Amino acid sequence: MDGGFPFVQADARPLTCGRADAAFRAEVDAFLDAGLTEDLRAAGRATTGLKSEAWACKAWREKLAARGWYAPSWPAEHGGAGWSTEQRLYFENASAARDAPLLMNSGVRTIGPLIIEAGTPEQQAYYLPAILRGAHEWCQGFSEPQAGSDLSALSLHAERDGDDFILTGSKLWTSFANYATHMFLLARCEPDSKGRDGLVFLLVEMGRPGIDVRPIRFIDGEEETNEVFFDSVRTPAADRIGEIGKGWKAAKQLMAIARSNNTTTGLLRRALRAAHRGAAESGVIDASLRMQLADMARRIDGFEALEAHTAAGRIGVEAAPASSVLKLLATELHQAITEVALEAAPNGDFAQAKYFATRAATIYSGTSEVHRNILAHAIGCP
Ligand SMILES: Cc1cc2nc3c(=O)[nH]c(=O)nc-3n(C[C@H](O)[C@H](O)[C@H](O)COP(=O)(O)OP(=O)(O)OC[C@H]3O[C@@H](n4cnc5c(N)ncnc54)[C@H](O)[C@@H]3O)c2cc1C
Repeated sequence: MDGGFPFVQADARPLTCGRADAAFRAEVDAFLDAGLTEDLRAAGRATTGLKSEAWACKAWREKLAARGWYAPSWPAEHGGAGWSTEQRLYFENASAARDAPLLMNSGVRTIGPLIIEAGTPEQQAYYLPAILRGAHEWCQGFSEPQAGSDLSALSLHAERDGDDFILTGSKLWTSFANYATHMFLLARCEPDSKGRDGLVFLLVEMGRPGIDVRPIRFIDGEEETNEVFFDSVRTPAADRIGEIGKGWKAAKQLMAIARSNNTTTGLLRRALRAAHRGAAESGVIDASLRMQLADMARRIDGFEALEAHTAAGRIGVEAAPASSVLKLLATELHQAITEVALEAAPNGDFAQAKYFATRAATIYSGTSEVHRNILAHAIGCP
């Protein structure tokens, strides 16, 4: 059905199955089987980047929202599914196993949970329902031309003027800024401050006068990332998370949430299924390729076990090193799968696009070198 080879279980049953109870699993399976129509699955399979086509995202989001499952990790009182980690993992892996459209919902995964954890009641009442309705799409404005790995070097200037801040400067590599209605960002509100001090974490509407978004075209023709320029952009000081001058704390909270909400096993299995399909279509298959595909399946199984244990808090290491291990293994394995896929289907449009799309994965959310530094530090290297 999927172009898979009989001796390789590309679609092996998620190891996390046993940890979500049978009734829950049956309910999820029935919903996904009924809701994921063939056109939605086809849109999911055709996705090479981080987000499926807009129509498919909208249709799938609406079905999830109607069932109350659009925000799996949010508490029920804020409109979420209120699931345990095991339930969320099962749902996400089961969705990926059926090629559900990929929703790059930063509102649900990152800023929404931060607003629940640290926002004011007014912010919760305004932003959370809008995220659930799909009315607000968010992007993350952290990196700048001189501030990437060393984020604390950022310099977007936030000058206080009455009840507002006035923003001047720019952000770089802002994914989906060209689609987003809002950006959460870090800006420097104390002009003489350095490093992690003197920052403010702001929630900014993208429609404010003075914001200019310029897409960056990648080698594969995609325009997912952007430069964003701020020319005296007025935005309310009340639209901030945490105290003025202490924005770094909110950013750290947000990164911890993003790490704990991120599930990658399903993405890897999808990539491997695509490799099998490509190999079946191209007919370029030999013993060496079969071995490589089998090796990828084995590595995904290992990764899945690690991800499930880490997410459930069963790995007794600090959160930051554990998430660095996951980020490194997942992105490097994803790239390795797309390399095998390209070997299997050298002339395939999908294999080529997917190969290019995964190159940046070892750069964003912290480069591999930076994560290796974190791990080296964690095991006591000088
Ligand atoms: C596709 C894509 C999407 C992105 N999306 C977003 C987004 O939505 N929002 C956002 O805020 N940012 C985003 N980023 C930015 C991303 O977080 C940065 O690119 C990343 O943190 C690296 O920063 P930099 O590009 O400035 O490179 P630099 O930090 O200048 O690094 C250059 C090289 O030096 C290495 N290096 C740097 N410091 C060290 C060190 N201490 N030890 C060893 N090696 C080191 C790096 O590993 C890298 O190889 C995105 C980037 C990409 C490519």
